[in-house]
Amino acid sequence: KVRVRFAPSPTGPLHMGGVRTALFNYLFARKHGGEFLLRIEDTDQTRYVPGAEDYIVEALKWCGITIDEGATVGGEYGPYRQSERKPLYREYAEKLIASGDAYYAFDTAEELDAIRNEYEAEKKTFTYNSETRGQLNNSLALSAEEVKAKLESGEAYVVRFKMPVNEELHLEDEIRQQVVFNTSALDDKVLFKSDGMPTYHLANVVDDYLMKISHVIRGEEWLPSMPLHVLLYKKLGWEAAMPKFAHLPLILKPVGKGKLSKRDGDKLGFPVFPLLWTDPKSQDISSGYREDGYFPEAFINMLAFLGWNPGTEQEIFSMEELSQAFSLERVGKSGSKFDPEKTKWFNRQYLMAKSDDEIGQLFTQEVLAEKGIEADQDKVKRICAMVKDRVDFIAELWEQVNFFFEAPKEFDAKTAKKSWKADAPELMQELKTILTDISDFSSANTEAIVKEWITAKEIGFGKVMNPFRLAMVGAGKGPHMFDIIELLGKEETLSRIDFACE
Ligand code: GLU
Repeated sequence: KVRVRFAPSPTGPLHMGGVRTALFNYLFARKHGGEFLLRIEDTDQTRYVPGAEDYIVEALKWCGITIDEGATVGGEYGPYRQSERKPLYREYAEKLIASGDAYYAFDTAEELDAIRNEYEAEKKTFTYNSETRGQLNNSLALSAEEVKAKLESGEAYVVRFKMPVNEELHLEDEIRQQVVFNTSALDDKVLFKSDGMPTYHLANVVDDYLMKISHVIRGEEWLPSMPLHVLLYKKLGWEAAMPKFAHLPLILKPVGKGKLSKRDGDKLGFPVFPLLWTDPKSQDISSGYREDGYFPEAFINMLAFLGWNPGTEQEIFSMEELSQAFSLERVGKSGSKFDPEKTKWFNRQYLMAKSDDEIGQLFTQEVLAEKGIEADQDKVKRICAMVKDRVDFIAELWEQVNFFFEAPKEFDAKTAKKSWKADAPELMQELKTILTDISDFSSANTEAIVKEWITAKEIGFGKVMNPFRLAMVGAGKGPHMFDIIELLGKEETLSRIDFACE
């Protein structure tokens, strides 16, 4: 049975890489009819940020990633917050000590600092490992009585893993295939502290085991931890239940062609959403994908392609399609570049795929409501439909269609200079008379009549149409003129002509 987990530490906002890890785990679970868990890894109380968990949960919700089991939804293997599982871990630390695979270390922070400094003075780096552990303040170097006395007197300690000497580990990664580590290059990691808190490594492995995790899918930055995790599984006697590991490639900054604005660049390492809490360290983070108007579907689609590809030409995938198509075999080994332009392109595809009704509704909710403008929904829909192929985001529609909702009060000076010639007022008054007499104000009808008049006058179309557009729009932009006036209606059209002539 496939059981995968997203195991963030609530130390701040979720980064893009974090959301991608969640997404790939989720897709993998869906593909194999398995379960997707959310486990909160909050053992490091010094790095804990209040509100971060809510943020993570909301981020996943926005993305459409549903949690089968976890901190907020419960489940058979809970609790799913490591701080709530605290009493559970001691047993495993003690088991490792009993089997000789871990040991007590009493070195204080000051002692370790002093040793580090000594090493540095000799241009060496200190590592807590098989070469140094014999001379340090731990149960491997002290006598049994000394250790007993320290423990009984309540001296603070940590439990360290006793990394085997010079063992070559050939490990299987689902993405990288074989990865080789020599244990002599690794240090004796702290697993547990005397305050009863496990460190990330112990808690992570114990929980993966107890929660019956089948596949550990996570960012490449955790690859160096893999040998320790595999050894812990072995030493705890859980080899048969060892999950498969898959380390996802890095997401790279876009470099080379095209200048990246800071805003886009920030999106690489910064959150998908702005903070949901006030964190003085991160106050410069003001906007994220949601705030910038991305559709969650577009964001997810873009994210799926950071590291994965379907092996076909298809680029647009719904979550459902991604769940069908996803496989770890098609996740690349090398880092993938984040491309802000492509991200916008994805959004545009999703915008174009929406019905005019839906676009109109979104525009009403997100833009008009915000501005306190009330308008007929059918009209809004038709207005948006005219210009939707010119924008990437719903909010950008406003720039294209604002003149439908607010009569121009000023006229763009450059356009006015070009289109409002000396004869404009006279021509506009004549046009007004013609329009006044038209009862069928449909685009096709007004167009036929106005064009006939212009042709009869034997003047260029621009002579009339340019000042006419300026009067209606206030600038030189906008869709087909007669479509515009059909939507404005006769009364508004005439009143705008008057205003322009004043
Ligand atoms: N708590 C770790 C993190 O914050 C989890 C890493 C893992 O998946 O093992 O990314």
